[in-house]
Amino acid sequence: MQDNILVVNCGSSSLKFAVLANAGQQTLVEGIAERLGSDESLISIKYQGEKSQSPLIEGTHKEAVTVIKQWLDQHPDILQGLVGIGHRVVHGGETFASSIIIDEYVINGIEECAKFAPLHSPAHIKGIEVTFELFPGIPQVAVFDTSFHQSLEAEQYLYPIPMSYYRNHGFRKYGFHGTSYRYISQQLAKTSPGSEQQGVLVAHLGNGASTCAINHGQSSDTSMGITPLEGLMMGTRSGSLDPSLISFISQAENISQDAALDVLNKQSGLLGVSELSNDCRTLEEAMLSGDERAKLSLDIFASRTAKYLASTATTLDSIDHLVFTGGIGENSVYLREQICQRLKAFGIKLDETKNQQAPRGEISNLTNEGCQTQIWVIPTNEELMIALDTISLIQK
Ligand code: ADP
Repeated sequence: MQDNILVVNCGSSSLKFAVLANAGQQTLVEGIAERLGSDESLISIKYQGEKSQSPLIEGTHKEAVTVIKQWLDQHPDILQGLVGIGHRVVHGGETFASSIIIDEYVINGIEECAKFAPLHSPAHIKGIEVTFELFPGIPQVAVFDTSFHQSLEAEQYLYPIPMSYYRNHGFRKYGFHGTSYRYISQQLAKTSPGSEQQGVLVAHLGNGASTCAINHGQSSDTSMGITPLEGLMMGTRSGSLDPSLISFISQAENISQDAALDVLNKQSGLLGVSELSNDCRTLEEAMLSGDERAKLSLDIFASRTAKYLASTATTLDSIDHLVFTGGIGENSVYLREQICQRLKAFGIKLDETKNQQAPRGEISNLTNEGCQTQIWVIPTNEELMIALDTISLIQK
């Protein structure tokens, strides 16, 4: 039976897509439409090792999906095997604790969550509406970044602010990267059977970064909050800090509080401190050429990641596994080493040689002899998880 799944990830100004086959194991085609909403928007499609690019005239999500549909029309072998479409959705609030087949109720639910993800949710809705229009009769599934964290206890998800704000407005921690954490938890269970009954700490370190504690297979705490701004220092996000700074920045720079918040989201983090780049690889190269500020930005990143790993670990009985994932977690030898060094009080000890020799794109164990916590690199694969959820829901 053919089981091609189109995975769609609509951001505010981009649309990533892939068609996965063979229970998600094979990527037939993938691509990205970028700079949507501008005059320079274009779509790139990678197929059989070759990349083609074309400009988008209107630069809308609709045009991007139309181009994807036209491409599929020209590749009927792939289109005919298409059985479902899976959408990554950033915010599912308290409404969605798992992935779900999309209908009117689900669209309304995503719309209600738009207050917490004002840039992403409208893009998701657009993407869903256009795919319904262009792929009539193909079932569609929503997979939420937040749903894995719906298992958090009130003690973890409530902010210590007046309770009426939670009751009346839903102001609480939701957490993100849930699809990645669910995937990592499943991969770890395959690699290290029994881990689903243990305590697992995961650091998902990419341009966006967060930590998660997984207790007996369920998320018990995570560092991101009502939005992805809380927690770790990231590429351009500050992560957690004294909220008074918003008022101070706004007064000192004579900008609105929303603009000050924008600074914390888009001009801070690695970029803000290094004054060079939000990209870890660029910063590591600069550090090696003697740029002290690049080094400082990476060291603050390591320090804050270690702190959040330690704090999320308070929901575990024991730290049996520590997993690094995401572009930085999977590839940065320097940051893995710096983070583990700062966790030595917890008995975390990395094997330096294994860390340096960890093969790219594969699962590897970096544990030093005598360390009780198994330290891993596990490459994440959110698209695969979305495809698997889609297959499983449409088969029901
Ligand atoms: P996101 O999905 O959040 O946009 P990714 O998970 O793709 O981000 O991670 C991007 C980050 O990973 C960038 O900071 C990039 O520099 C970093 N990265 C990728 N490869 C390497 C590498 N070999 N060494 C260090 N950092 C790397």
